[in-house]
Amino acid sequence: MYVRGVGPRVAEMLAEKGIQTAEDLLYHLPFRYEDRQNPRSLDELKPGEVASVIAEVRGAALLRTRRGPLFEVTVGQGRHALKCIWFNARYLEDKFHAGQTVAVYGKVEPSRSSSNFKMIQPQFEILPDASDDAETRLLEVGRITPVYESLGGSRLASRWQRKVIFNLLETVRGAVPECLPRELLARLNFPDRESSLREVHFPPEGTSFAQLQAFSTPAHRRLIFEELFFLELGLELKRRRMKQRAGIAFATTNKAREALREVLPFHPTAAQKRALGEIVADMREPAPMRRLLQGDVGSGKTIVALQAMLVAMENGYQAALMAPTEILATQHFLAARKLLERSSRKPRIVLLTGSLDDDRKRTNRGLIHRGEAQLVIGTHALIEEKVEFDRLGLVVVDEQHRFGVLQRFKLMKKPGPDGTTGPEPDVLVMTATPIPRTLALSLYGDLDLSVLDELPPGRTPIVTRRVPGERAHEVWDFVRKQVKQGRQAYIVYPVIEGAKDDQPELDFSHDPESAGEAPPERQTKTARKGKTAELFPASQEANPTAKSGLKSAVEMHEKLRSGPLAGLRVGLLHGRLDADEKEIVMRRFQRGETDVLVATTVIEVGVDVPNAAVMVVEHAERFGLAQLHQLRGRVGRGAAKSYCILLTGSRVSPLAEERLNAMVRTQDGFELAELDLAMRGPGEFFGTRQAGLPEFRVANLVRDRELLELAKQEAARFAQQPDTAVTHAERARVWARLKEAWQRRYGLVEAG
Ligand code: ADP
Ligand code: MG
Repeated sequence: MYVRGVGPRVAEMLAEKGIQTAEDLLYHLPFRYEDRQNPRSLDELKPGEVASVIAEVRGAALLRTRRGPLFEVTVGQGRHALKCIWFNARYLEDKFHAGQTVAVYGKVEPSRSSSNFKMIQPQFEILPDASDDAETRLLEVGRITPVYESLGGSRLASRWQRKVIFNLLETVRGAVPECLPRELLARLNFPDRESSLREVHFPPEGTSFAQLQAFSTPAHRRLIFEELFFLELGLELKRRRMKQRAGIAFATTNKAREALREVLPFHPTAAQKRALGEIVADMREPAPMRRLLQGDVGSGKTIVALQAMLVAMENGYQAALMAPTEILATQHFLAARKLLERSSRKPRIVLLTGSLDDDRKRTNRGLIHRGEAQLVIGTHALIEEKVEFDRLGLVVVDEQHRFGVLQRFKLMKKPGPDGTTGPEPDVLVMTATPIPRTLALSLYGDLDLSVLDELPPGRTPIVTRRVPGERAHEVWDFVRKQVKQGRQAYIVYPVIEGAKDDQPELDFSHDPESAGEAPPERQTKTARKGKTAELFPASQEANPTAKSGLKSAVEMHEKLRSGPLAGLRVGLLHGRLDADEKEIVMRRFQRGETDVLVATTVIEVGVDVPNAAVMVVEHAERFGLAQLHQLRGRVGRGAAKSYCILLTGSRVSPLAEERLNAMVRTQDGFELAELDLAMRGPGEFFGTRQAGLPEFRVANLVRDRELLELAKQEAARFAQQPDTAVTHAERARVWARLKEAWQRRYGLVEAG
């Protein structure tokens, strides 16, 4: 389709931003609006608020300061004035002239000079005057005006998008097909698709400005619902289809029950019993199991998974457990071996990781192929090494491996005499991310959910303290005392080696602010590189200089060993050690042969050493909330009182401040997850891309949870009953749309 204003060059730029069709452009919604119908008056502004103001340019000046050139524009209404300041913004010099009308948007700050207020680095738009074309005036003056994220430099900024989208809407007038059934729209009181698109871009007179800002106009809600509906419908169908596939109906005989009892070293918690019950009930069904086992760190997922694997083994099937790291795979292997020693059947357990030598790999592959290994524990190597199972009955994978991997497991089965691979194995996915329940249910709609919402008994709460870096010596004294009492400690650093090191173990991009506040110089460099001044992302980039002065694991291992912790046995663990070394270090710590483990976040997931009672995190302000929570989860696993000490550097951003306070305030993973979700937004929270979860065009999982629930209900309803109120043609359109949405946007079709 030809879109006015979009030539080949621009089309390319748009494609880079994921906008490939006219429809994509229509679903690229404004991220905010300016009420140019009822502009704010300068005298009603309050310091601290974020406001948009329309005023007249009074004067502009480029000032020289020690920090570089500073561009200052004074705008006014009547006798009130507002000063706007941009750093390093020489390129703005010939943009402003006295007499122009401008819209500025930014945080209102008190000003010491003659003006009432100032704004630093506001977004701005010079409004069209009589010399501009009528269309621009029509779209930007005297109405509620949409503001868009730039789609590429100043060229494809808001003004460009307004025109293109406006024209596009004119072109398609009356021709945007509805993709939801009329009956549903009527029942939920949603406007049709075309009007919704029109109204979110160019709100008609009388639209509530507050609703617009909150994305909660009927038009917004309809578009958000639409997106979530197709996600939920897809999940619902996957789930229904799964129930029709051929799986294994495991039997739970008394013998099997006895086998489970034999290996349990403790009384399971009520939550563990419930989860196991749900898992086993699924396993008994002839359809393949697809279940998510969710439980906070330390809630005891491992033993539940092992019991499920025992059920499979008791039925004469093989079970496989896939862990995210070699350390964890090894740990699971050792734990399983220890537990199953108590079993009268002594199943054969095999470890398969990338670092095994080739002979060993070959031997193990053979054992698995011939069915002589009943329990297989491994990493991604299980897939890479082309392992073929004899009779695979149950696969346990962690969440990271969920997508793409399940399909492969199906192919990993040895063909039977008739050439087929027989029924599909059951799958249990484990996650330690305490996803709020409603979200989990809706997002993993194709999985059934079991939750471990209870910690094993006998845990004493972990004492969490924040300590400024200057007082680190007190912390080292404390560590020495704890070691003297027979405890062990972790000390975690954000980077492996020097500051210039590439730092694979901490992803700074997760939270730009954690790298300290970016000074203005930094922000304007971005702008000078040619980004439009309209969109000034405040501290969107981590400041690279802030990275220096970071303590690293390698360096501090040396320093602590020869200094404050001299005489203690101090180990070092990080991602760059090879697998054997890692295993040795880990095993020593597990056996209590080292007192202190200096490490990076490699120990974040799953490592289980009950005697470790102290977790010290240096540069704690650098870590994300989920990471800190995972790290803290490494202690408090035994009966001894445990401590988590968050050492902070000199610069702690407001967001980091909030994270640290939350850590001190609560130990509840779900509460922290809620907060994390709110602070980071769902994209970052779920690590969308890597987890294979969808990226949304209009929906936002935090803001739109209630609509997500509604979409789930409606999707189930739609899938379930041939509703007579829905016509044949409408159903056909829904299916077509579903297919397209899933193929293009979610790419989850093959996720098994
Ligand atoms: P996670 O859910 O984080 O994987 P683990 O399975 O590693 O938790 O269990 C954490 C610790 O709690 C382990 O040391 C495990 O042996 C212990 N544990 C698990 N369940 C119980 C229980 N019911 N009673 C006592 N200790 C338990
Ligand atoms: Mg675990």
